[in-house]
Amino acid sequence: MHDVIVIGGGNAGLCAALTARESGASVLLLESAPRAWRGGNSQHTRNLRCMHDAPQDVLTDAYPEEEYWQDLRKVTGGVTNEALARLAIRDSAHCRDWMRRHGVHFQPSLSGTLQLSRTNAFFLGGGKALVNAYYRSAELLGVHIRYDAPVARLELSQGRFVAAHTGDERIEARACVVASGGFESNREWLRQAWGQSNGEWVADNFLIRGTRFNLGVLLKFLIEAGADTIGDPTQCHAVAIDARSPLYDGGICTRVDSVSLGIVVNQLAARFYDEGEDFWPKRYAIWGRLVAGQPGQIAYSIIDAKAIGRFMPPVFPGVKAQSVPELARALGLDAAALVRTVSDYNAACRPGSFDHATLDDCATSGLTPPKTHWARPIDTAPFSAYPLKPGITFTYLGVVVNAQAAVFFDGQPSPNLFAAGEIMAGNVLGQGYTAGVGMTIGTAFGRIAGTQAAAAAVRGKMHAAA
Ligand SMILES: Cc1cc2nc3c(=O)[nH]c(=O)nc-3n(C[C@H](O)[C@H](O)[C@H](O)COP(=O)(O)OP(=O)(O)OC[C@H]3O[C@@H](n4cnc5c(N)ncnc54)[C@H](O)[C@@H]3O)c2cc1C
Repeated sequence: MHDVIVIGGGNAGLCAALTARESGASVLLLESAPRAWRGGNSQHTRNLRCMHDAPQDVLTDAYPEEEYWQDLRKVTGGVTNEALARLAIRDSAHCRDWMRRHGVHFQPSLSGTLQLSRTNAFFLGGGKALVNAYYRSAELLGVHIRYDAPVARLELSQGRFVAAHTGDERIEARACVVASGGFESNREWLRQAWGQSNGEWVADNFLIRGTRFNLGVLLKFLIEAGADTIGDPTQCHAVAIDARSPLYDGGICTRVDSVSLGIVVNQLAARFYDEGEDFWPKRYAIWGRLVAGQPGQIAYSIIDAKAIGRFMPPVFPGVKAQSVPELARALGLDAAALVRTVSDYNAACRPGSFDHATLDDCATSGLTPPKTHWARPIDTAPFSAYPLKPGITFTYLGVVVNAQAAVFFDGQPSPNLFAAGEIMAGNVLGQGYTAGVGMTIGTAFGRIAGTQAAAAAVRGKMHAAA
């Protein structure tokens, strides 16, 4: 019998498997995906947010615990467990040495990456290189890894883990770490959570930015088995991505960053929100939900030649035209309606000093909704447009854990069932998001869960021997 089963081979599961093995446990990692698609959403990541009191290798200046905590408190609107949040924040101060030992390399932040050089350490080669390094290290340490091994259910006895079921197999272990992500790839569950609007299932038009394997099977199982839950099932992190992106695994390059430089219209060629409300890094994560609220869950970012070169070019080229009516036709929009929207906007733009690096004084006047910064007339050909759809990053619903990462049933921590990563991230991140915190949570709680599972296995052995 294995000491520890880890379910899910993304960042959190790999951190758990590695630490459990380092603690002396025999470890079996069960991953749904085939080897080529291993790494879950973690393979798409680029960085983790780290506290530090002085400049460190790739991190500039300082980012003290208190500032990190205040940032987290702000974005979650207080929907966070402070003790668990601080635990993750403190772990981020020293986890990188451990990560390096397992083959992860870091690099300074890339240009055009939302000004993160002070707060976020970037993985050299991105998340794909990180998960590959962890898998390599896990293999070298003797972690048994099985791909194509989706776990359908667990066997529990009064909150105690007994066995995992994959295919026809029943696999016993002394302890278990569940690190199987959220339910963002389960389109039926998203449908239920988002419901219908004007007769259409809103979620049917969503794209999934990451893996197709995060179906929430074990999250659902644990909820039905009586695990205490945290987070709102209807909440998810969604950004506006290029509507031409694949249904799964489009990753980071499908995000469209031109929004604050122009206007955004819906299918009726009407504007619906202030595109210049705040700096794009602070606002990009609200646009998935905004687009989800529009008919057909589609919108179009429209810019003119003045905006070209001022945002990170997305993976798909913009739709180009020499005039606004021509652009409307290329997008399948009503040309007269788009001309009216652009003319009204242009007429409302007040003169100012355009500066995309500050909250400048280029604003509209007398327009609803207003554009409060970076409002310049759209008047210089060629005109470009990017179609936008909501791209789901992850869901927030999860299971309650404590500082030992133990899963709770009826207010009581399980003695040998632990959770790490997205499946418990709602304890720290009840809503909102700040870049890089997903990997901070997964790394901290993955390592805690692995250590605790190994200790639980030792207790299990002693109990059996007594
Ligand atoms: C495009 C994109 C970019 C992102 N960028 C960043 C970033 O730069 N920084 C950051 O902090 N966060 C980022 N995130 C969020 C980040 O990906 C998550 O917070 C983090 O990866 C969660 O790690 P995890 O191990 O919990 O889940 P995952 O990495 O998703 O791993 C879950 C694993 O469980 C497996 N699994 C699921 N169900 C089962 C089952 N029943 N049986 C067996 N295996 C199962 C899946 O196949 C998967 O491999 C990004 C997300 C996306 C989609």
